[in-house]
Amino acid sequence: MSMDTIGRRGDERSRLAFEEAKKVLPGGVNSPVRAFKSVGLTPMYIEHGSGSRIYDIDGNSFIDYVGSWGPLIMGHAHPEVVQALQETAAKGTSFGAPTLLETQMAQLVAKRVPSIDVVRMVNSGTEATMSAIRLARGYTGRSKIMKFEGSYHGHADSLLIKAGSGVATLGLPDSPGVPEGVAANTIAVPYNDLASVELAFERFGEEIAGVIVEPVAGNMGVVPPLPGFLEGLRRITEQYGSLLIFDEVMTGFRVGLNCAQGRFGITPDLTCLGKVIGGGLPVGAYGGKREIMEQIAPSGPIYQAGTLSGNPLAMVAGYTTLSLLTPEVYDRLERLSAKLEEGFTRNAKERGIPCTINRVGSMVCPFFTEERVINYDTAKTSDLDLFRRYFAALLEQGINVAPSQFEGMFVSGVHTDEDIELTIEAHRLALQKL
Ligand code: PLP
Repeated sequence: MSMDTIGRRGDERSRLAFEEAKKVLPGGVNSPVRAFKSVGLTPMYIEHGSGSRIYDIDGNSFIDYVGSWGPLIMGHAHPEVVQALQETAAKGTSFGAPTLLETQMAQLVAKRVPSIDVVRMVNSGTEATMSAIRLARGYTGRSKIMKFEGSYHGHADSLLIKAGSGVATLGLPDSPGVPEGVAANTIAVPYNDLASVELAFERFGEEIAGVIVEPVAGNMGVVPPLPGFLEGLRRITEQYGSLLIFDEVMTGFRVGLNCAQGRFGITPDLTCLGKVIGGGLPVGAYGGKREIMEQIAPSGPIYQAGTLSGNPLAMVAGYTTLSLLTPEVYDRLERLSAKLEEGFTRNAKERGIPCTINRVGSMVCPFFTEERVINYDTAKTSDLDLFRRYFAALLEQGINVAPSQFEGMFVSGVHTDEDIELTIEAHRLALQKL
């Protein structure tokens, strides 16, 4: 494929579709960032996807680095996933009764994720973190939780405090509708700042049920944990009898076969999963040590349930995707992502554009700043106006990245060397236009 065949040449149909949608969907969408509001463009309406490409209703095609915001680590419409879905769908789509698939999926997750003995399937990352928080509170008998500024853990009330992702993209303050009493139980401190964590624990330690952390922050752009940060969280939470909760909704099976906890060698008490484990269907999960997980109903008193939880289609899409993820796939992801990072760095240098690229495995994020980006405050030093123009230029060249500085790019196991080379060239041309 050459660059002649990718790119956004027209958007007439998408414009009309968006106008129609706005009449019946709030802001025209079912999730805010899809509206392209922060970049001031019309979103593409997707007609289909295949491998590393997506195709819109105006006949444009793009090399895709959004991958449905992370789940599609093996690309769009992977033939094995599609076949497994077709075979499963033909037998019925939901029973609300146990199926063998659920146990197989749980066994695979428990085998791969170091901290998980027992896992409960839910329908989204939001449900996973919300339920893990309830469990941490129920288990410890404490009310407060700690999170990090600019992290996003889904839209449950107690986690929508100083949140990243779409909230950061739209520059919104904390959301109306979250009762003060709920917000008062959430302590937010800067990411990578152990001194602030220590200070908050000295003051509130006996009241803190748990600390929830993205082991690689992915909702303020990509921000890796500084050496010692995750170790410090493990030590402090143990000292105070609080639970350490890794929100691996984004990093789970994205940054390695054994998730971020395997990559960094830290074992949390609870782990939240989503995105990749659903293989493109709506799935979340939370799991951990048996002793804690057994507090969940029906084995324990803490209630959590779901009509569609463990749904056969979701389970089979996730199971098939996880089965495709071999060590070789992660080697490939590492190699292609490093190549992308090098190309982008070279392009920015050549053009004299301020740039800091953060990358962990296949999570890649160029910021328009010369500052080292280690938390939300430093992420916000990125030139957002430059990002907007860069995003538009990149899209025109046929490269689809998230319409936000506060999201990373996701390389997939089906991107090719040619895709990466085309992307680096498109990036070079985009920077020329700035
Ligand atoms: N946690 C993290 C780290 C996420 O990145 C997200 C979504 O982007 C969520 C939780 C929420 O997941 P969902 O959108 O499936 O509810």
